[in-house]
Amino acid sequence: MKITFRQSRKDPQETVEWSHNHDGTSNKNGDGVKNGGPLGALFFTVFFTGYIYFVVEKCNSGQWNLFRWPQFPTLTEDYIDIEAVLICLVWFMVQCILYILPIAGQIEKGLPLKESGQSLQYRLNALFVLMLNISGFVFAELLGFRVSTLSKKLLQLTTAGVILILFISSMLYVKAYWVSNLNLNRHGNTGNVFYDWFQGRELNPRWWFLDLKYVCFRSGIIGWVMLNLVNIVKAYEEGKGHPTYNLILVFGMQLTYVVDCFWFEDALLVSRDIVHEGLGYNLLVQFLMIPFCFAVQTRYLLQTKFILPWYTLTGIFILYFTGYIIYRDSNQQKNNFRKNPNSPSVSHLESMPTASGKSLLVGGWWGLCRHPNYLGDIIISISYALPTGLNHFLPYMGSLFLILLLIDRESRDYAECKRKYGSDWDRYCSRVKYRIIPYIY
Ligand code: NDP
Repeated sequence: MKITFRQSRKDPQETVEWSHNHDGTSNKNGDGVKNGGPLGALFFTVFFTGYIYFVVEKCNSGQWNLFRWPQFPTLTEDYIDIEAVLICLVWFMVQCILYILPIAGQIEKGLPLKESGQSLQYRLNALFVLMLNISGFVFAELLGFRVSTLSKKLLQLTTAGVILILFISSMLYVKAYWVSNLNLNRHGNTGNVFYDWFQGRELNPRWWFLDLKYVCFRSGIIGWVMLNLVNIVKAYEEGKGHPTYNLILVFGMQLTYVVDCFWFEDALLVSRDIVHEGLGYNLLVQFLMIPFCFAVQTRYLLQTKFILPWYTLTGIFILYFTGYIIYRDSNQQKNNFRKNPNSPSVSHLESMPTASGKSLLVGGWWGLCRHPNYLGDIIISISYALPTGLNHFLPYMGSLFLILLLIDRESRDYAECKRKYGSDWDRYCSRVKYRIIPYIY
């Protein structure tokens, strides 16, 4: 059933077509709910939040066995204290200010948004901000402020992060009443309060120039490097020498990945999350909890002091480097091709014209499978875990989640491309048969 009503208080004249689902919920333009609807959202909220605390308990206790039931402290102050809340809040505000201030990096336009056709502007200074964060950390340590003692506050910092996420997601839910319909997320306005809060009602919430989605994403990644630095400094202090080569290798590989990500920062602006997803609890928890989920390998190596012979570490580095080349070169091929198909870097690659006017690459990396960039990313993430050996599975959980996330992402991208390219997409898929791993998947 279709019904037209007004959603935005900002512009009461603006109307949008919504449809009612059989469960009584409604959504714009007839789009259905996704990710299993409210029940799926509830499952994710409980499961993922629980998983983060599970990981942090393992990191704190040093008991890495996946099947050992976690032993959580019983005192409230072990979970939350004012110092951790202040650290979290001040640090996040500093990241927001560094994004807004006109220092370093140029202003770049994002893709035109589907509903409004408008292109938002972003300040690309993430690399500079990362360097400022690292310098601040090093200076603070040299001046005697022991930033590395933060490793004792992991549980309190996690709770402070969760409170921040709950606060931002609830505030954004309310804020969405005052934005134009054109900025609303079509999957986040079903009428079910919990589900809409989870998916995010607004696509790109902004205060003046501050783009919250983009800043949260950057902050999560920068926080990951900072927590890794804490583990490195702890290793120096405890080892009274240098950290193990395993730890140095993992830190080096993860830092290189982050620097690469920020070096090619303009590519982030066209990623699915930035362009298509609403900002609610779902995305906020995925972004801002990156440090607590992904600094597991360095924490594991700090505590276990696990070492591998140099030739095994060299083999792991070669694997990482192979994954990195696949990831970076395939992303570059596609991005350059989309910017200018006649550019000398891609003009020699075979491509397939489609009725939409756009062509699809069928040569180079993109002739091997439909998402070579995902393949590179998976190899990279497995390389982070291999230096922790094969005694425990927890350091591999990040790779498992990434594989599940990219499989889901591939199927959503498939559906979208099928809609965009119609029968040309079928033709493309019969030519490039494999989704992510050539000859396997
Ligand atoms: P992709 O880079 O895979 O882009 C998919 C889009 O590319 C399609 O919608 C289509 O858009 C275009 N495309 C698909 N096939 C072709 C082709 N043969 N020739 C030309 N264009 C094609 O999507 P993502 O944004 O999901 O990923 C970007 C990067 O981010 C990846 O490297 C991924 O691994 C990484 N990532 C990492 C995560 C992490 O946690 N580490 C999480 C998510 C992503 P169109 O035709 O409209 O241009």
